[in-house]
Amino acid sequence: MKVSAFILICFLAACLAIGQGSEPENARRDVFLITIDTLRSDHVHCYGYEQIETPALDQLAKQGIRFMQAFTPSPITNTSHTSILTGLLPISHGVSDFGVPLKSDYPTLAELQKKQGYLTAAFIGSVILDSKRLAPGLDRGFDFYDNFPEKSQAKLRWGRIERRGMDVVQRAEKWLDEHQAPPRLVWIHLYDPHDPYEPPFPFAEIYKGRLYDGEIAYTDSALGHFLAFLQKRGWYDSALIFVVGDHGEGLGEHHEDTHGIFLYDSTTHVPLILKLPNGREAGRVVDEQVRTTDIMPTILELVGISTPASLDGVSLMPLVLGAKSASRPAFGETDYPQRFGWAPLRSVRQDGFKLIEAPRPEFYDLHSDAEELRNHYVPWDATVQTLLETLAELTAKSQSGAKSSPSSVSSGTIDELHALGYLGAEDAQSSTNVPKPSLLPDPKDKIEEQNLMHIATMASEDGQWAKARVALEKVLHLDDKSLAARLLLGHVYLNSNNARAAEDQFEAAVLLQPGNMEAQFGMAKALLREKKFADAVDLLEETTKSGTKDPEAFELLAQAYTGLGKPVLAKRAAGQANSIRGTRPQQ
Ligand SMILES: [Zn+2]
Repeated sequence: MKVSAFILICFLAACLAIGQGSEPENARRDVFLITIDTLRSDHVHCYGYEQIETPALDQLAKQGIRFMQAFTPSPITNTSHTSILTGLLPISHGVSDFGVPLKSDYPTLAELQKKQGYLTAAFIGSVILDSKRLAPGLDRGFDFYDNFPEKSQAKLRWGRIERRGMDVVQRAEKWLDEHQAPPRLVWIHLYDPHDPYEPPFPFAEIYKGRLYDGEIAYTDSALGHFLAFLQKRGWYDSALIFVVGDHGEGLGEHHEDTHGIFLYDSTTHVPLILKLPNGREAGRVVDEQVRTTDIMPTILELVGISTPASLDGVSLMPLVLGAKSASRPAFGETDYPQRFGWAPLRSVRQDGFKLIEAPRPEFYDLHSDAEELRNHYVPWDATVQTLLETLAELTAKSQSGAKSSPSSVSSGTIDELHALGYLGAEDAQSSTNVPKPSLLPDPKDKIEEQNLMHIATMASEDGQWAKARVALEKVLHLDDKSLAARLLLGHVYLNSNNARAAEDQFEAAVLLQPGNMEAQFGMAKALLREKKFADAVDLLEETTKSGTKDPEAFELLAQAYTGLGKPVLAKRAAGQANSIRGTRPQQ
């Protein structure tokens, strides 16, 4: 009896092992990758947060595998998504900023799956991932990439720079209905939990006073709609589904309201759930540290496509199947502080310790200090030295120069970036190629300014000029050399019909950075409003003589000549603007 039971167990174990090994030939199954923007793992119900209902995420976790310790290498949307879609760290793929094109050297998940016969489509929730504007190259390998309309008449955010989650999933569902033959790869990006927090009814009521949670609950309802759609069509059980947050949200921890500046767990620890076909490994929980760069190699393994050799990520399947393997270091980096003239940050998190490279470095023992509140950095500590070496090895490995420079981002796109609450390269206080970032201010000393800048940016997008002005004046009180604050305050004054005050701000900005075009154009606009046409001509003639190819300079110059009563010169300047724009001069 005992022997036969033993044989039976061996037989079952062998069957299981076969099932768990390489997938059968017909492994070309549908893959659905859902990324949820700005989602902290500790604000999801199945990650232990009792004050929210996220039934769709809970369902997936119950029927799939929940990774408790998953980390993104970047708190910035473009960078983190590029890592998910390439299996590479930012230092490898080089997309460290908005508008930086993804080099064709690095194959994307979509390219690799498309080569193997997959139909591929992407549905994005924000213009931040629009491949024609702020995320060039991210569309590689997708048969269909649902960009935003090039010219939107919409005044509201919706449809112009953002789409509600329900809109995004319904667009994906429509595409799936029109492309019913598997295998298909569909990536869905749900942007809603990103600020401003404006969940629709009834979530705004249910989560009154906790609108970030309201956005998450709403996003979960959109995810639920999509999962129910898959079930209705009979596509759910056999599909491979990944859901992941692209980064978290500061929510005031370490004084960071949103995300992008710091590399603490508040913005790098994300939920990660994998549902395997036919309920395999349902309900499993993986406690080992994993990275979002591990997603791509996992998918490739599960659909039987060979993985590029040079990936930074590693398949999650050994951990899913219970193997104990060496801990995976989670790297982090952010260059976004450089927008404000502050030092970029690098981090490594391993075996319960975290090191952050900064002008004032940080070291945390996460076993006893999960909130990263007690900095124990001393350069002679053995663990500090090991982690510094790990970071140095990574930097050396990636010295091949993956970084490519931002493609020229149009002024319209800069406006969109501002509308989403971010600064663009034009706002940068200092060169992003500073020889020694450690000489720049530590973001820890500056975070209050960033919070105020963010409040001001969002307020001016909504036309709340007084609120924006108050926040910007506070920034300038903290740092009167803030170029970004001077520029934005200049625009705020222009919009509140105070040209005199606007002129002062733009003049201060020109003094801070003489070649800054935004400052010069702002000053010219202020002078035109004040009818100081001769001053405007002086300024703009100098600008246009400097060889600028920006048509706005000539358009403003035409207005200044008109004001001065010089129609011939005005017509000539307008003609130059038109010829730059590639249009025929108007009669
Ligand atoms: Zn994001």
